[in-house]
Formats: sequence, C-alpha cells, structure tokens
Amino acid sequence: MVGGMSAAGLYVHFPFCRTKCPYCHFASGPGDGARIGLWRSGLEIELDGATPRRQAIDTLYVGGGTPSLMEPDMILELAARIRRLPGADLREFTLEVNPGRIDRLRLAAWKEAGVSRLSLGVQSFEDRLLRVLGRDHTASEALAFYDACRGAGFEDIGIDLMIGLPGEGRQRPAEILDNVRRLGPDHVSVYILEETAGLPIASALDADPPDEDAVAAAYEDIGRGLKELGYEHYEISNYARPGRRCLHNLKYWRSEPFIGVGPSACSRISGERWCNREDLEGWARALRAGEDPRAEVVRLDPVRLASEALIFGLRLREGVRTSDLRTRIGVDVRELFDQTIAELAAEGWLETEGDRLAIPEERWLLSNQVFSKFA
Ligand code: SF4
Repeated sequence: MVGGMSAAGLYVHFPFCRTKCPYCHFASGPGDGARIGLWRSGLEIELDGATPRRQAIDTLYVGGGTPSLMEPDMILELAARIRRLPGADLREFTLEVNPGRIDRLRLAAWKEAGVSRLSLGVQSFEDRLLRVLGRDHTASEALAFYDACRGAGFEDIGIDLMIGLPGEGRQRPAEILDNVRRLGPDHVSVYILEETAGLPIASALDADPPDEDAVAAAYEDIGRGLKELGYEHYEISNYARPGRRCLHNLKYWRSEPFIGVGPSACSRISGERWCNREDLEGWARALRAGEDPRAEVVRLDPVRLASEALIFGLRLREGVRTSDLRTRIGVDVRELFDQTIAELAAEGWLETEGDRLAIPEERWLLSNQVFSKFA
C-alpha cells in the first residue's frame, strides 16, 4: 500500500495549559472560556473534513497542551464526534494527562469516553527538579494521581520522564527505577532535555549544567534497569511492557499516515505533509471562513520521503525494512541512499540484515550522527 491507504492515526491538539513550563516549545497557552469555545468550534469544522475519502483511522491521540484540563462533557463530545467519523474504528485512544488534583468525575469521563491509554507527564520524582521544570505538581501528587488512575480501571498507563536537567545528581537512575518498580507503568518514556535555546529554562541550564557523562550514564543505567524490570526498549526514548507499545506513535516512526487537527497539528498523508497555523485565532478564523487553516504544505519528493522515513524509522529497535517502506511510501531508500548506507554499515553505525536496517542499540545515544547523514 502506498501511504494514505493503510489506517491513519488521528492527533487532536488541545492548546491550553494552566501555566507555561520553561522548557516547553509546544503551541500552548492559557485557556479562558472564550478561547476554549473558539477551539471547540474550529475543531468541529476541521474534524468534519478530517477523513476525506473515508480514510480509515484506528488510533487517536489527544495531546497538547494539557488535554486533561478538558471538562468531562467536552471530552465525551469529542470522543463521540470522532467515533462518528467515516472510517474511524479505534483500537487505541491515548489521552495526555498532567498529574494534579484527583477529580474522580473527570477520570470517570475519560473511561466513559473510551480512553484506553493514559500518558502521564510525571517528568521527575524529585520536587526540586519539578520546580526547576515549572511543573504545577509535586512528586507525591504524581504518585497519588497514578494510583487513582489505576484505581479508576485504566489498564494501560505510560509515564514520561526527563533527564539532563539543571544540576541533576548521579543518584537519579536508582531513584527513577525504584519508583518505576513501585508503580509498574505499562510504558515509560525517558527524554533528555535538549534544544532549549531561546527557552526560559536555558538560563537555569547555563547556571547549573548537568554533567554530560552523567546524563549519558543515566540514560544507559535507566535503560539497563528497565530491561531488567521486563520492559522492551523499542525506540530510542521509549520502553514498553510486552504488547504495550504506543500504536499511535509507531505510525510516525513507521512512515504510516497521520492526520492532525487543532492549531499547530501536523499531518502526513499520500506523500504530503502539512502543519496547521499555530495561533488559535488565525486557525479558527480560517476554518470559520471556509479557508485553509494550514500554515505550510510540503509535497515530499522521493528523496525527502526516503530521508524522513529513515530518520524516523531508525529510531526503532526494529529499524526499517526497505521492502515495507517501498510499499508505504513508494520509494526505494536503498537506491537513493545506497552509498551512505554502505558507509554507515562499514563504520558500525548501521546493522544490515537482509532488507532490514537498524542502528545498534549501543549507538542510540549518538544516533543524531546517523540521522544527519540522511537529512
Ligand atoms: S504542560 Fe506540557 S504543553 Fe503545557 S506548558 Fe508544560 S510542557 Fe508545555
């Protein structure tokens, strides 16, 4: 199948947060009643046209922003609207959640809406680091929130964690692993804080930079520990219990189609990639006026298709299969990057086995060096 024919993932962007975290580069801001109303009305229009030609959709990811701030009626209405889309048959429905005050009505609404997977922004188990990150919850609140989600019957819960934080100590891997052992999440994402230029957290990092070797050691130690706890390291930053990989995110990495709705949301389908306007007002105004809410549309030529497919696909432990990519994007990546692939393989940066290409796990921390060759 050429891209566009296999089932797509649908991403819904909720662009509101209570406060702005100093490391955040997502399109998010404060949401009063008027702004949330604007978002709802724009989304209704955009969703109506989201599945042209009955494009099948089998995963839904509601992210942001802080979509867990959505009022119960809003998430119920959104879920019902999406399920009515021609082609929608969801096998996974993820909701991004920020730990905070436990609101049982809200948890019940998520269940009723059919949310199958929660992604909890825990970020750190240390209050000092949570303050540096500008998070509006403490570590113990996050633990209690996690327990409340389990208690409400959510069977698939992932937690997001960050390392490489200002003044980070060497004891963190043990503390992180202890907490993971105690919580038993189904999925763990471990991101290294990077690319902070121009963001408010940059000055905290400059003033108290983490030791680079310690961050690399933490990445390795956490990875080793999570594997001992039974997690599969299936992507550079992601670990899952068997059967709990995030199906929606796999679509990005595997060059499968995805559709994004809401301000700033991006889509890729049938060799085209586009992103919506980031400003809520401009995006909503365009939709209400029957105009195009997109800021940028890129027709991907074969080299660009191949380059993106490799840069995303090589993040996975499974790597890429050139025959699969030929089917999905209609391009032979080996033909286009034959020389580069051969050089990287000769230097040990790529494993090649039949038509499979993958970065050896011991090189994952330096994988940008591989990606830059395909960029
Ligand atoms: S909660 Fe998430 S989206 Fe909102 S400001 Fe913080 S990092 Fe950004």
